[in-house]
Amino acid sequence: MLESTSMKSDNKDLNEACRVFEAYLRKHDLKLTSQRIDILNHFLHSGAHVNAEELFHLVRSHQPKIGYSTVYRTLKLLKECQIAKEHNFGDGTIRYENDFNRGHHDHLICMQCGTIIEFECPQIEEWQQKVAESEGFELVDHRLEIYGRCKNPAVCTRNKKVE
Ligand SMILES: [Zn+2]
Ligand SMILES: [Zn+2]
Repeated sequence: MLESTSMKSDNKDLNEACRVFEAYLRKHDLKLTSQRIDILNHFLHSGAHVNAEELFHLVRSHQPKIGYSTVYRTLKLLKECQIAKEHNFGDGTIRYENDFNRGHHDHLICMQCGTIIEFECPQIEEWQQKVAESEGFELVDHRLEIYGRCKNPAVCTRNKKVE
C-alpha cells in the first residue's frame, strides 16, 4: 500500500494516519489512492505550516503528474478528518499543519518575514481557563496567535520568503 512513496519517513505515523484517512474516505465513497497517500506522506513530513501551493510543489517533485486541484482537495479532506488543521495567519494564504497525534500549541508570527514559531505555555493555558470560568464560560478550544517581528533583523531578512 505504501510502495508508491520513496520517502524515508516514520511509517508508523503514516500508517496510522492512512488508516484514519481511509476510514473517512470510505464513509464518503472515496478511495485512498496512491496519489492521496503520497500527498498525505509529504504533508505529514513537511514539518511546517504549508499552503496548498507549497505542498503541490513538494509532491510534484516526486509525482510529476499530480495536479494542483488534487492536492488542494486532498488537503480539504485531511482537514475534515482532523489530520490537518487549517490556519489563517494573515499572510493572504490558508496554511495547514499536521494535527495528527500532536498536542496543543500556539503560534508566534513574524509580520515581516512570515516565520511561524510554535510554543506551549502552561501558564497561558491556565489563565485562559480561569478567564473563561470567571465569565461563566466553558472553554472548548482556543487559538492564540501573537503577531510581531523577529528581534534580530539579520535573522528576519534571512528568513524572508522570496515570492
Ligand atoms: Zn503549528
Ligand atoms: Zn521575521
